[in-house]
Amino acid sequence: MKSHAKAVVIGGGVVGCSVLYHLAKAGWTDILLIERSELTSGSSWHAAGGFHTLNGDPNVAKLQAYTVQLYKEIEEISGQSCSLHLTGGVMMADTPERMDFLRLAHAKGRYLGMDTELITPSEARAMFPLLDETNFVGAMWDPVEGHLDPSGTTHAYAKAARKLGAEIVLRNRVVELTQEVDGTWNVVTEQGTVKAEHVVNCGGLWAREIGRMVGVELPVLAMEHMYLLTEPMPEVEEFNKSTGREMIGVLDFKGEIYTRQERNGILLGTYEKACKPWSPVNTPWDFGHELLQPDIDRIAPSLEIGFKHFPGIEKAGIKQIINGPFTFALDGNPLVGPVQGLTNFWCACAVMAGFSQGGGVGLALSNWMVHGDPGFDVWGMDVARFGEWATPRYTNAKVRENYSRRFSIRFPNEELPAARPAQTTPLYDTMLANNAVMGDSWGLETPLWFAPKGSEPKDIVSFHRSNDFGPIGEEVRATRERVGVTEIANFAKYEVSGPGAEDFLNRLMTNRMPKTGRIVLTPMLNEFGRLIGDFTIAKAGEERFMIWGSSAAQKYHMRWFEKHLPKDGPRASEVRIHRFDQTLVGLSIAGPKSRDLLQKLVDVDISTKAFRFMDFREMAVGGAPCMVNRITYTGDLGYEIWMAPAYQRLVYKAIKEAGEEFGLIDFGMRALLSMRLEKNFPTWFRELRPIYGPFEGSMDRFIKLEKNDFIGREAAAREQAAGPKLRRVSFIVDAADADVMGDEPIWAKVGGKDYGTVEKPHGYGAPRFDAGGKEVRGSNAAEGASAVRGIVDGDWRVVGWVTSGGYAHYVEKSMAQGYVPAALAENESAGLFEIEILGHRRPARINVEPPFDPSGEKMRT
Ligand SMILES: Cc1cc2nc3c(=O)[nH]c(=O)nc-3n(C[C@H](O)[C@H](O)[C@H](O)COP(=O)(O)OP(=O)(O)OC[C@H]3O[C@@H](n4cnc5c(N)ncnc54)[C@H](O)[C@@H]3O)c2cc1C
Repeated sequence: MKSHAKAVVIGGGVVGCSVLYHLAKAGWTDILLIERSELTSGSSWHAAGGFHTLNGDPNVAKLQAYTVQLYKEIEEISGQSCSLHLTGGVMMADTPERMDFLRLAHAKGRYLGMDTELITPSEARAMFPLLDETNFVGAMWDPVEGHLDPSGTTHAYAKAARKLGAEIVLRNRVVELTQEVDGTWNVVTEQGTVKAEHVVNCGGLWAREIGRMVGVELPVLAMEHMYLLTEPMPEVEEFNKSTGREMIGVLDFKGEIYTRQERNGILLGTYEKACKPWSPVNTPWDFGHELLQPDIDRIAPSLEIGFKHFPGIEKAGIKQIINGPFTFALDGNPLVGPVQGLTNFWCACAVMAGFSQGGGVGLALSNWMVHGDPGFDVWGMDVARFGEWATPRYTNAKVRENYSRRFSIRFPNEELPAARPAQTTPLYDTMLANNAVMGDSWGLETPLWFAPKGSEPKDIVSFHRSNDFGPIGEEVRATRERVGVTEIANFAKYEVSGPGAEDFLNRLMTNRMPKTGRIVLTPMLNEFGRLIGDFTIAKAGEERFMIWGSSAAQKYHMRWFEKHLPKDGPRASEVRIHRFDQTLVGLSIAGPKSRDLLQKLVDVDISTKAFRFMDFREMAVGGAPCMVNRITYTGDLGYEIWMAPAYQRLVYKAIKEAGEEFGLIDFGMRALLSMRLEKNFPTWFRELRPIYGPFEGSMDRFIKLEKNDFIGREAAAREQAAGPKLRRVSFIVDAADADVMGDEPIWAKVGGKDYGTVEKPHGYGAPRFDAGGKEVRGSNAAEGASAVRGIVDGDWRVVGWVTSGGYAHYVEKSMAQGYVPAALAENESAGLFEIEILGHRRPARINVEPPFDPSGEKMRT
C-alpha cells in the first residue's frame, strides 16, 4: 500500500467504487480506495439491483438518469458486465389522489426530458400479466427502469477505476483519522498509515463510525429491508415465451411494494409500516457478508395487499427471503459533499438507492473535489442540509417515518409528525393556545396558519385548496388593511465582525455593503456566477454586520463563509463569523398600522424620516433590547424585530396589547408566502438556486459589477453581456381549485417561432467528461440541461417550468413564478401561456409588475 495519496476513499461498496472511478476519470489518479474486507462487503452485495430515474427532487432525478446511462460506459471500459436489464416499469395508482400524484410526476418529467406516459391498468397488465387491474385506476409508464447485478456493477466501477490508474487495497480496515496542522490527513489502517490530502467517507453501513473518527455524528441510520424470491412461475415463463420480452418492474403504492421478474420467478420487496432499524447506535465491525433473520410477520400486511393485487404470486412457492440492512438519511436522499467545519473531509453516504444514484453521486462529488464545485444543483443530497438538531434519536424517528412512507404521497400542505416538536421558541405554547397549525422549519416549530377558534388546528392534506384557504385569506387581508404579527425565528441569522468584515462581505456579495444603520439585499454567487445565496445585510456598527438568510441553508452558507475566511497571517483574526441559530429569535409586524403600533412600544422617533425604509436600529421594544429592521417580506410598511429568546414573550405580549386598538392579527408562514407572491418576491431554494445566474433570476438591481472584484463577478458580467437566456417571471394563472406547487411545465403558443434555448439547467460551469475521460466543455450531456424544447403539441410548446406559487389572497389571484426564455419574459399577452396543474393546462399570463403595490409606495411610506 502506498504511503501518500491525493485522496483516500474509505469503503468499497457501489458508492465508493463510483467515487473512485469518477475521481480517476477527472484526472486524479494518485488515489486509493481502502476496503475493510472484499468489495461489496456492506449492503451492496445483497441489493435487489433495481434502478429507476424518478425522484421527488428533479435535480436528484437528473443525476439518477445519469447513473443509468453510465452503465454502458463502465461496462465498455472495464470489460465487466453489469447484467443490465432495461425492462421499463410502471407505478400503479389505486386511488384518484395517487393518480393526481402520477399526473404531477409525469408533468414534471416533461421538462426533465423523461419519457413517461400515463397508461391504463389494462395496458400495465399487458406488460405484467400477474397484475389484477381491477385494483387500480391508472398507472405511469417509465421506460428507464430495470435491474442489474449489484456485485458485477460494483466490480465494473472498480475495474474501470483501476484501468484509469486508481489503486484498491482490500482486507484493510481504516481504524483512525487524524489531521495535521497543514491539513494533511493521516489515514491509519490495519496495514499502516497513508497520508492524504482528501478523505472520502463511503463507509455505507459504517458511515456513522467513520464520521465519529473525525468528531461528526452523521444523520444516517440502517434499516432492515426484506424482499422475497419465488420459485419459477409458469406464468412468467409463458409471458417470456409468447412475447419474447422480460416482465417489467411494478411499483404498487398501496402495498408499499415493488416487484419484478427475477430469472423465471418473481422478486417482491416491501417498505413495510412496521419497519425496523438495524444496529441503531453502533455497527459491528465484524458484520460481513451476512443476512439478517427474515421476519415474515412484519411484512405480512404488505404481502396481503400484494397477493390481492398480484394474485399469481400468492400461489407461487417462496424460494428465499432476503433480509439485509442499508442506510438512509432523514429524507431518504444521500449525504454528499464536504462536511462543514472540517477541511477536505468528504461524504458520500446514506445512499439508499446505490444503483439508481451511485453514478450521479460519484460525478457530483468528484467535480466538487477536483473543481471545487459539484457542477450541479445537488442541494437535495447535500450533507449540509441538516442541522445539529438531527441527533441520532431524531434521525431514528425520521428515518423510520421516511421508510414506512417510502411510496406514500406527500401532499404539498402535509407536515410530517415524527421527531416533533424538536426545537421550539418561547412562544410555542402561546402559538398553540392561539390555535396555530405548526410546521417544521429546519427542525424548528413554526406557525403556519391559525385555525378559527373552536376548530381543530389541523391541515386536511390535499393537492387542492384546503381548509387553510379561508383563514389564510383572513390573515392576509387583516395584515394588508390593518396590521399583523408573525414569528420569524426560523430565518438564518449571522453576525460578521472584525476589521476585515466589510472587505470580506464585499468579496462574497454582489451588492455594495450598506452604510452604518442601513440595510441592503444582496445575492451571493459562486465562481461560475451562479446564485448560491440571497441575504439581507445590515451594518450594525463600524466593524459589525448582521446578516439574515434562508434557515435551511445555514450549514451550506457557513461552509462557504468559512472556506473564504482569511486563513493565514495577521489577517486571519480580522473576520469573525457567528451563527446565532435559535439564540436570536424574531417577530415581524406588517401592515399600514404597524408604525403606529411600534411607536407605542419604543421611546425613539420612528417616523418616516427618522426611521426610513431599509434602516436598521438597535432600540428597546416593549422594554426589551432589540434590533429592528424597517423591512418586511410581505411588501407592506413593516418591521422585523430581533431579540434574545429570553425577551421574546415580553415583546410579543407588548405587541399584542398595543395592537388591540389597531385590530392586530396573528399570521403564519403561509400568509407571509402568499403576500410575497403578490409582490413578485422570490424565495431561496425555489426561485433562486445554484442552477440560475443572477440576471436569469431577475436580480439585476442587486448586482453591482463595478463595485469590486467579488466572487463570480466575471461570470456575471459575461451573463449580462451575452444577455440571460432565461428570465424569472411571475404569472397570474386561471386556476380552478388547485394552485401550482412547483415544477409544473409552462406551455407557450409559439407557433413556428423559436425563442432560443429553453432548457432547464442542472449542470453548470464545472467541466464534464466523456467516456474516455476527455473534457467536454459546454456540452449538453445527459447530466446537464433538460431538453424541454422537444415537447410540442401543435402550436404549443413547453418553454419553461414553475418554481413556486399559490394563491395570492389580497389580489385574489392564483399566482406562479417560474423561468421562461428571456425573449418571452415581458410578453404579457393573454392566450400566450398555459401552466399544467395536476395534468390540466390552465391559461396563464405574465405579470411584469407586482399586482400588489407595484410602485412599492406602501413599504416606503
Ligand atoms: C435487501 C436490500 C435490497 C436493496 N435493493 C436495492 C435496489 O433494488 N436498488 C438499489 O439501488 N439499492 C438497493 N439497496 C440499497 C443498496 O444496497 C445501497 O444503496 C448500496 O449498497 C449502498 O452502497 P454503499 O457503497 O454506500 O455502502 P456499502 O455497500 O455498505 O459499502 C460500504 C463499504 O465500506 C466498507 N467499510 C466501512 N468502514 C470501513 C473502514 N473503516 N475501513 C475500510 N472499509 C470500510 C465496508 O466493508 C463496505 O464494503 C438494497 C439494499 C438491501 C439491503
